[in-house]
Amino acid sequence: MKTKVSIIGSGFASLAASCYLAQSGFQVTIYEKNESVGGRARQMIKDGFTFDMGPSWYWMPDVFERFFADFKKSPSDYYQLEKLNPAYQVLFGTNNTILIEDSLEKIYAAFEKEEQGSSAKLQKFIDIARQNYDVAIKDLVYRPGISPLELVTSETIKKLGQFFSTVSKDVRKEFKNKKLIQILEFPVLFLGAKPSETPSFYNFMNYADFGLGTWHPVGGMYKVIEGIYSLALSLGVEFQMNSPVEKINVAENSVSSLMINGVSVKTDIIVSGADYHHSETLLDPEHRQYSEEYWEKKTFAPSSLLFYIGFDKRLKNIYHHNLFFDVDFDAHAQEIYDDPQWPKEPLFYANFTSVTDPGSAPPGYENGFFLIPIAPGIKDNPEIREEYFNKIVNRFEEITDQEVRKNIIFKESFCVNDFIEDYNSYKGNAYGLANTLLQTAFLRPKLKSRKVKGLFFTGQLTVPGPGVPPSLISGKLVSSLVQKEFTI
Ligand SMILES: Cc1cc2nc3c(=O)[nH]c(=O)nc-3n(C[C@H](O)[C@H](O)[C@H](O)COP(=O)(O)OP(=O)(O)OC[C@H]3O[C@@H](n4cnc5c(N)ncnc54)[C@H](O)[C@@H]3O)c2cc1C
Repeated sequence: MKTKVSIIGSGFASLAASCYLAQSGFQVTIYEKNESVGGRARQMIKDGFTFDMGPSWYWMPDVFERFFADFKKSPSDYYQLEKLNPAYQVLFGTNNTILIEDSLEKIYAAFEKEEQGSSAKLQKFIDIARQNYDVAIKDLVYRPGISPLELVTSETIKKLGQFFSTVSKDVRKEFKNKKLIQILEFPVLFLGAKPSETPSFYNFMNYADFGLGTWHPVGGMYKVIEGIYSLALSLGVEFQMNSPVEKINVAENSVSSLMINGVSVKTDIIVSGADYHHSETLLDPEHRQYSEEYWEKKTFAPSSLLFYIGFDKRLKNIYHHNLFFDVDFDAHAQEIYDDPQWPKEPLFYANFTSVTDPGSAPPGYENGFFLIPIAPGIKDNPEIREEYFNKIVNRFEEITDQEVRKNIIFKESFCVNDFIEDYNSYKGNAYGLANTLLQTAFLRPKLKSRKVKGLFFTGQLTVPGPGVPPSLISGKLVSSLVQKEFTI
């Protein structure tokens, strides 16, 4: 009989792990608590509108190519990619916007228009970011975070200083224009921490943004989930939906079985792609590696208040991705990280996939996805959600110069309580554990349990970190550890 691997959850990391493990000959079953695959990247379809419930920015296309190439496939076997132009719009107020277009030359020109001399500085900045991208994304992130020595290479030694300065300091040294500073600080938000807490080395995110561009899988990000799901099926992975894992049983310090819907299921190996904190609570306390105090002290990436909205008309002055940076970024960041509370004046993000992908809304209509980043664990109730909806719709109407309220056919919201209820997310975090200096690589929760043989973890709370590309890489990393330790 083949060695059985049970994978908890069906997010990007679990799906990726399932493919690698099935390809190497293990018998793999995914147990997912929800009725559809995808985890935080699930899809919502309502009244002819299609929404990606979580990720919408397809960055680092090379990571997706590398993933599919491991199976002698390519993304185009599963979905069609389009490079967005503009990549996104940043709105600083009425008639005060900057478009980030689809080539470095156009972006340099946009910078020069805002601040004389900034294009040359940006070129230098992006050159360093490109080198860091080559070191980080082509190599370092594919190391399993077991030892600090993984980070010591001839390349990183040369860049040591970049681990002790921050993206925020570097950007402010070179650029004086507030708008340009905000644009350059935006990409590291994907890593879940403040730019002032994110090591300079992570400016590779700026190369991902400007150098590699923003892409859109036609039909939405869920096409990527569907692609990996069908790859997994073709490799023999079995899927059990509506199957919440209630307990991980251990015998003689090795995993022995899972309790699912009250039934015990024997297994040889468990890979949990559910949030790390939750996965450990499925164990008896003596088998857990990290205490509640450990999690409490960690810097979590933000949670989010999300709205999925159907509009009965096409909207104007919008693009596919729109960042509303018309309020003070530092004040909002403080209310997320330093003094957790509902932000007085939140920045927000609005996406309308129907602008470039007409299939995502009925003809003549627009689908809207609004996101306000907020501190994990703060109070969430319908009144607060409505208050914030009004705040951002007022600003949206004013800045884009149109009335939209009366054109809303439906509006669904999703916030802290839903992240906890739907994904067992720690404090309702949306993007996992932030990538700060002290939460990088070997300093993150480990892929392999040091207490229970046969128990592994994957996903955005472990190595390498938050985001879709890192989650795919996490699935690969955990699979190699399993393969090293167990035979088929
Ligand atoms: C609103 C939002 C916007 C985002 N935007 C972007 C973006 O634009 N670009 C980008 O790259 N990334 C983005 N991200 C981040 C990205 O979506 C995540 O990093 C990634 O999807 C996480 O994948 P994962 O496999 O680690 O976890 P998850 O997707 O959370 O998967 C975990 C799975 O485990 C399941 N589970 C939990 N407990 C149990 C249990 N007991 N039994 C069985 N199953 C269980 C859950 O239901 C879930 O399906 C965004 C995330 C959110 C929430």
